[in-house]
Formats: sequence, structure tokens, C-alpha cells
Amino acid sequence: MNAVAVTDHNELDGAYKIAKETDFLVIPGMEVSSTDGHIVALNVKELIPRGFSASETVQRIHKADGVAIACHPYAYFKGSLKRKVCETFDAIEIINARAFPFKRSVKKATETANRLNLSRVGGTDAHYGPQIGYGYTVIEAEEASAEAIAKAIVEGHCQPFGQAVPFTLNLMQEFERVKRRLT
Ligand SMILES: [Zn+2]
Repeated sequence: MNAVAVTDHNELDGAYKIAKETDFLVIPGMEVSSTDGHIVALNVKELIPRGFSASETVQRIHKADGVAIACHPYAYFKGSLKRKVCETFDAIEIINARAFPFKRSVKKATETANRLNLSRVGGTDAHYGPQIGYGYTVIEAEEASAEAIAKAIVEGHCQPFGQAVPFTLNLMQEFERVKRRLT
């Protein structure tokens, strides 16, 4: 991997903080809870507020010079957009390595990408380090920078790859979460 997108739920500070602390290329962003479902705002310069409709949220992401991605649009238990994905999105997440049921999610997202002619990306939606890399996007960018990667995604110079995160790693995530709560 050459870069990683950091997209905390409804928070932007953590992504910019980690981007400063590491030499590894970080594409800062956030995952916004719209009233219609989750939306990834990549490379935004300011916080995108939660609680607006999907179309309003996409407009706000564009105003903040960001890339609006319909993440895990058909996954169960994740706050998915389903039919609220529309052509104003810059991209759709075809492969989300933690989507359940995985194959159905990929198939439905692919159908929507075909129908709306959207750029396609993949990611893990990792909430635990060792999950990173199961879903990924191959990007043809002019250079290794957040700006160039954002531009390449908007222009469709990207392709999703990956597989579902193994069950044991999702279990480890839960274990770590419980451990954090108890300590
Ligand atoms: Zn989500």
C-alpha cells in the first residue's frame, strides 16, 4: 500500500493529526452520518456536519473541496444509503471488506455503479489495525499526494479489489473494543 484514507465517524481532527505524525501518505477525511446513511468525505478541509440529507451532505462535501463517496451502500447493520445513492456522488464503494453479506453487497453496489456511471473504490472500513488492506483501491494518480488521488478518484482512474475480512479478525476487533472499555 502507498496510502491510507483515515475517516473517523463524524470527526476530522484525528485524520489531520495522524497525517502530520507519519511519513506514510494519509488521505484525510471523515465518514459523515447523513439522515439517509453514511457518506465518506475524502480530502475535505473542514468538518462536514452530520444530520443532513444525503444530497445536502454531498453538496457540503463538494463546497469543502472534498470527494463524496457512497460507502458500503448495501451492507446490513451499517447505516447504508441503499436507494439514496445518486449521480451527484463522486464514487461508490464496491468492495467494503467488512460488509455483510459480502457477495450481495458487492453485486448490488456494482449494479448501482453501472446504472449511475460512478467511479468505483474499495476499502476495508477497518476499525482494527490488522484488518487494513483486505479491501483496497488501485489508483492511477499523477503523483503520490492526497490531491492527486482525490482527482484520480473523481475522474474514475481507480479500481476496487479485495476480499472479506476473516471472521477471526472481526472477532479480535470486538475483543479489543471490550478491553478498551474495561481499562
Ligand atoms: Zn459506515
